[in-house]
Amino acid sequence: KKPPSRKGSMVDVPRDLLEQIAQLEKLLTVETTKLCEIVDHFVKELEKGLSKEGGNIPMIPTWVMNMPEGNETGKYLALDMGGTNLRVVEVELLGNRNFDVIQSKYRMPPEMKTGSSEQLWDYIADCLKSFVEENHESVEGEDSLHLGFTFSYPCSQSAINKGILQRWTKGFDIDNVEGHDVQPMLEAALQRKNVSIKVTALINDTTGTMVASNYTDPKTQMGLIFGTGCNAAYFETIGNIPKLEGLVDLPPDTPMAINCEWGAFDNEHVVLPRTAYDVQIDNESPRPNQQSFEKMIAGLYLGEIQRLIMLDLHAQGFIFERQDVEKLKVPYSIDASLLSQIEEDPFENLSEVEEIFLRRFLITTTGPERKLLRRLAELIGTRAARLSACGVAAICKKKGITACHAGADGSVFNKYPNFQERGAQALKEIFGWTEANPKDYPVKLLPAEDGSGVGAALIAALTLKRLNEGLP
Ligand code: BGC
Ligand code: MG
Repeated sequence: KKPPSRKGSMVDVPRDLLEQIAQLEKLLTVETTKLCEIVDHFVKELEKGLSKEGGNIPMIPTWVMNMPEGNETGKYLALDMGGTNLRVVEVELLGNRNFDVIQSKYRMPPEMKTGSSEQLWDYIADCLKSFVEENHESVEGEDSLHLGFTFSYPCSQSAINKGILQRWTKGFDIDNVEGHDVQPMLEAALQRKNVSIKVTALINDTTGTMVASNYTDPKTQMGLIFGTGCNAAYFETIGNIPKLEGLVDLPPDTPMAINCEWGAFDNEHVVLPRTAYDVQIDNESPRPNQQSFEKMIAGLYLGEIQRLIMLDLHAQGFIFERQDVEKLKVPYSIDASLLSQIEEDPFENLSEVEEIFLRRFLITTTGPERKLLRRLAELIGTRAARLSACGVAAICKKKGITACHAGADGSVFNKYPNFQERGAQALKEIFGWTEANPKDYPVKLLPAEDGSGVGAALIAALTLKRLNEGLP
């Protein structure tokens, strides 16, 4: 079944708007042949990233060297510093592919994204401190608590508890963190606050997602995030990671999880169908020419694409005629959830969209304009899902995987209407599958287990186990 499209109800839309819709369709549709071209280039770039010379995609060895066995036990802390929230979790692994969690969410004040480094680490340490004081019953003789720290930004790792931030993503721009190891900065803040917590493992959300999903579904071979940012992790063997040559003394068949950081795919702009709007978003972002793939796919940017296109159509006199669009001129004033709402308005006359534009932007919309807006949201979401599928297909091709489960998480994957179906449809086109039902496709994207909580705790547990056994 094809994902639903509301194209059918365009009868009352005047000619000039229909023409605009047709142009947008042309601009934002990624055909099968283009998908395949992107996948082929993507495979080469994954390989380049693993080579000594390196490439655009960082392909970071994470020092996570095995999947869980399922019998892991113990209590661990996990801290998730994502793009939007800060979350502290205490995970109790129960030893039978099962777990219990207690957690608290803290708001990341938006100013913090561009504030100072001390402010950031102090805030995080405060959250950890108050969580532990409220929730953790300290045990007699217990030394420090072990923390799996999910820090979802590209970090070069020379060990599992070390990570030098290569560069901020997702709109963060805090001085004096890039180029530094984040683990000692957090531990110093914890010491200042007298909290005895040790950062046992520093992990990416994708790696956590893969490990957590594998814990409950051992068929899982990939971890994917489609949220504020986007990225993937999977396992390579050391023999297939030329850039580790001479740096590790381990048998070539030793597994090593790779944090791809595929948001950086096509930073040299050779294959992605970037529009003038994508270019504008890139140019006006704190980090131009970085995260090119992410900027076309991730939740942080989808609303911004819609906003820029609406403003352009208005400037050309096609929509919101004689309306004051001042409020719409605020950058990043539309988030991906608004696009979902626009797409999902159940009413034939799109009265919810009407209400939203009136309330949020003081703009009165006409019925035909709302149809254009909905079609636009649908096109932006579909493009994101189809491009995302290219990354998944590329990992499969690179590794020779013909069937697997991939654990996927993030607001776009979980909340964006039809994202999953559209991604599956694109995979079907890329691989030429003939199965009618997406449930039967050999590569399946499934809702993940909590990677930044349970996954981080599992990785902390696996790390301690390796240390006890004297393994690297
Ligand atoms: C970050 C990745 C992260 C992804 C999803 C990207 O911006 O660079 O480390 O996995 O967002 O959160
Ligand atoms: Mg997250």
